[in-house]
Amino acid sequence: MALADCYKIIKTNYMQTNFAVIIFTALLAFLLAAGSCSNSMHMKKQSEMDFPNAKTDEEWKKLLSPLQYGILRESATERPFTGEYYALFGTGDYHCAACGDHLFSSDTKFDSGCGWPSFFEPASEKSIIYREDRTYGMIRTEVICGGCGSHLGHVFNDGPPPTGLRYCINSAALNFKESDPAPQDGPDIP
Ligand SMILES: [Zn+2]
Repeated sequence: MALADCYKIIKTNYMQTNFAVIIFTALLAFLLAAGSCSNSMHMKKQSEMDFPNAKTDEEWKKLLSPLQYGILRESATERPFTGEYYALFGTGDYHCAACGDHLFSSDTKFDSGCGWPSFFEPASEKSIIYREDRTYGMIRTEVICGGCGSHLGHVFNDGPPPTGLRYCINSAALNFKESDPAPQDGPDIP
């Protein structure tokens, strides 16, 4: 075999290998893209009904008042200074008006002056889930209930210490349960 022929065969083999690598890489990229796409769609689908306290839309409609449904399930916002809790500073716990999960405690509530109940910290890490909200030409962080996925309000970076956060929550998305009053001085127990 002439040297030139030999060179030709090597070159062809090399090109074929290269071509195979390119095809393989493209196929892999396609599969990965398709996989991640279907995954994110799956996630989206899951996120609606995957909450521990999830209900169907029909069930929420029966359970909630029209105001509550509009806020919790359709992300509406109550008018400032109109809600039940923006000026309430009693001692107790705030629960999700849809599923009853404990969301905030009164010891993290503060008077922000914004007209909505404001807290600097949720009751626990699992109480709240955060979602980017790009409606009305703004980029805000939406706050939803970790138990049922209902819309509660938004969180901003202009809160007081120690977190510097302001959870701005619709009153209609909350149910306040007052703590039992501290026991009065009774007879001393030996
Ligand atoms: Zn909930």
